[in-house]
Amino acid sequence: MEELYIGVDLGGTKILAGIFNSEHHCLASDKTKTMPEDGYVAVCSRIVETIRSAAELVGIDPAKVNGAGIGAPGSISSDESRVLFAPNLGWRDAPLKADLEAQLGCPVWLGNDCNVAATGIHRLELEAKPNDMVSLFLGTGIGAGIITNGVFLSGATRAAGEVGHMVLDPDGPVCGCGTRGCFEALASRTAIFNKVKSAVNDGGELTQLMVADDESVTRIRSGKLRRAVEAADKLAVHVLDETCFYTGLAIANLCNLLNPEVVALGGGLIEQLHPVMVPKIRDAALERTMPGSRQVRIMATALGDDAGITGAAILAHDHN
Ligand SMILES: [Zn+2]
Repeated sequence: MEELYIGVDLGGTKILAGIFNSEHHCLASDKTKTMPEDGYVAVCSRIVETIRSAAELVGIDPAKVNGAGIGAPGSISSDESRVLFAPNLGWRDAPLKADLEAQLGCPVWLGNDCNVAATGIHRLELEAKPNDMVSLFLGTGIGAGIITNGVFLSGATRAAGEVGHMVLDPDGPVCGCGTRGCFEALASRTAIFNKVKSAVNDGGELTQLMVADDESVTRIRSGKLRRAVEAADKLAVHVLDETCFYTGLAIANLCNLLNPEVVALGGGLIEQLHPVMVPKIRDAALERTMPGSRQVRIMATALGDDAGITGAAILAHDHN
């Protein structure tokens, strides 16, 4: 029978599941809302349901696949069996591998979502297989997968790579972590929304980003921001410029520290807005990068939203 793998991108907002062949080609995929407020057991059931419905599209029994990989938004135990801490899901020490294996009937491996997506980009997209690479994902939050000297950076207690909490402005807005002026508090989609909201509340100019019936934080989707920028909406252009500036600053810091060959950009904001964002990010970054690291290639991933599920399927394949 043909080798098949399941790849799952478990996010705080949505669960994406794909069925892959041994060439890492996606045969079918499906998605559902995570709704983490319903608790761990409910989210586990939703992961299984999403996998089953993707498998149904190609007439496959998930119990018969070679393995499943899950990219989860948090720190993962070194044996790839437990989610140690996932703030966006409200999980601590969750035995996700055992629980999913019991429900799916196939072997399951866990990885950090950003590292898993970085694996997808590295293995499928980058011919040169760089030994030193940073993958940066801009969406609701900001995360990174960092490969240095051929291996993922993990740190003494597996907590390294929290690029979103690099402080870029000590007087900046308060971040979800409690510190002021983190990269994530300045340049994520959440930060963009907060800036738009306070500009509107301060009686600023009318903007396409705000309409009367649409005022919750999750509702400025990246596509809406792109349409506003394309229509030259002043406020949208301004907040996007700031996002590019701070992203460039963060990349300059990372380049000076890590001297990567490639910085690959992904996530919802980049997927929608890379033609506008990447040149601005590159300019802001290179202006502040030391000459020794300036050869870096700063690019948007072509895998887009599929980087996570692709990397997760590769994780399962590598264990087979
Ligand atoms: Zn922070």
